Amino acid sequence: ARPLPAGRDKEKVENVAASKSKGAPNLYGSFVHSAPGAFLASKLGLPQPESLRRYKAGEPAPPGPVLLGGKGRVADAVRNLLGDYTFVDAVTPGVKFGALVFDATGIKTIEELQELFEFFQPAMRSIAASGRVLVIGTTPELAGSVDGQIAQRALEGFTRSVGKELLRGATSNLVYLHPEAATAATGLESTLRFVLSGKSAFVDGQVFRVGNDDAVAPASWDKPLEGKVAVVTGAARGIGATIAEVFARDGATVIVADIPAAGEALSETANKVGATALALDVTAADAAEKLAAFATERFGGIDIVVHNAGITRDKLLANMDEGRWSSVINVNLAAPHRITEGLVAAGALRAGGRVIDVSSIAGIAGNRGQTNYGASKAGVIGMVNAEAPKLAEKGITINAVAPGFIETAMTAAIPLATREGGRLLSSLLQGGQTVDVAETIAYFASPASNAVNGNIVRVCGQAMIGA
Ligand code: NAD
Repeated sequence: ARPLPAGRDKEKVENVAASKSKGAPNLYGSFVHSAPGAFLASKLGLPQPESLRRYKAGEPAPPGPVLLGGKGRVADAVRNLLGDYTFVDAVTPGVKFGALVFDATGIKTIEELQELFEFFQPAMRSIAASGRVLVIGTTPELAGSVDGQIAQRALEGFTRSVGKELLRGATSNLVYLHPEAATAATGLESTLRFVLSGKSAFVDGQVFRVGNDDAVAPASWDKPLEGKVAVVTGAARGIGATIAEVFARDGATVIVADIPAAGEALSETANKVGATALALDVTAADAAEKLAAFATERFGGIDIVVHNAGITRDKLLANMDEGRWSSVINVNLAAPHRITEGLVAAGALRAGGRVIDVSSIAGIAGNRGQTNYGASKAGVIGMVNAEAPKLAEKGITINAVAPGFIETAMTAAIPLATREGGRLLSSLLQGGQTVDVAETIAYFASPASNAVNGNIVRVCGQAMIGA
């Protein structure tokens, strides 16, 4: 197992990813958490990465009471939906808030942006470690008047900048809600619970778009995937193995798929999480048929498919051979596209289905030596954009995560200096864990996330470098 910095043993036990994520040691993190390192770091004013609070069943979601403000149309709904949270209306000396939540849907002019300042400025020093800032606005393009659209778009720059100012593992995110969502805003609940909990530990500076559909809460928010059949590709190790683990924890019946050569690791993962293993090369022409037949025969169909299998074959474009180019495009982009279309055409992906793709910040920011990978991962974003309205007609959603620097075998292979840089460039001053990606995928997979479609959410601690 990866040696963890002193004082982080608790996280090791809590983190379901620990056993399968074979990341390289975090030199900077280990140093500033050692006794002499901590002393030096505090003397020199060096940034200290916080041990992030992550989800544990049965624990209160935010690490303190929630300060709720704003005069929009969803503040009451938020209070009702999160009946098990403690809400307060004013800053009280000595109280550290688990979250600051602001309903900005009522902001319709540039002048009214002043309300953001008035609510957040006095509270900025009262946010608990791993606390949350959450602004809820209206989808800007649907916000009506020109002034309304401008004001709503402004929320994005505000929340992203707040994310870069927050300390001690606190994060800042924005949710845009469709203006025609019903007053009870039930479609918002899965997103609120995800963002405000430890499940979103490494999701920072992101924008979530929630549609106007109503949603039904699961019987238990600790077992939201009960009764669902889920397929995870590339699940023998790394992020895929952790997705399988989190899905099983959340109550799903899980099929883990990987190439035949990864058979031993795949069986290990399957045994560990109680999943069923399927040897499957996603690039095979009959991959969709094989998957559909296997899942239908054993479990009657598929509810959730996660296209996690992915490869890198890095080279500067000037030095790249055709094989590196095409293998990356095939595994990362052509295969998920073909499999999704195949499963939908065969009716194997049932109504209420969920497709979750894995992009990368390299597909957003671009990355030297990764023209093939960047193209494939940007193509994944295009796939989500194009398929979302089509699949919505069948009651199926499609979303993607775009991981940043996640501690896995893939990132352990990055040269040392780049690797340390990758960690420090995030607002949270560290790499993410595989569980952070898995939790975001599980949020998209939830039946209660039916109003969440066509989203690309980065799981990168607000970093913008390729991995
Ligand atoms: P990994 O290399 O540890 O695991 C990938 C798995 O996919 C392996 O088990 C591999 O055998 C499997 N696979 C490869 N080709 C396959 C094929 N043709 N058919 C079936 N399975 C196949 O990688 P990881 O770090 O866990 O990454 C998982 C996903 O996350 C990938 O899509 C990757 O591009 C993406 N991602 C990772 C990071 C990161 O920091 N680790 C960052 C951004 C995106």
